[in-house]
Amino acid sequence: MITNVIKCKNPRCITTVEQEIDHIFKLTDKQNRVYRCIYCESKAR
Ligand SMILES: [Zn+2]
Repeated sequence: MITNVIKCKNPRCITTVEQEIDHIFKLTDKQNRVYRCIYCESKAR
């Protein structure tokens, strides 16, 4: 899990709406290094 390194690009995500919330991403695919937002599950990169 990584916090406040990547920002979620989903305009409807709670991290975009709530400014005080931490941007937390979880590594869901180690081989392809896919990170997903824990709130909306959008892919990062
Ligand atoms: Zn998100």
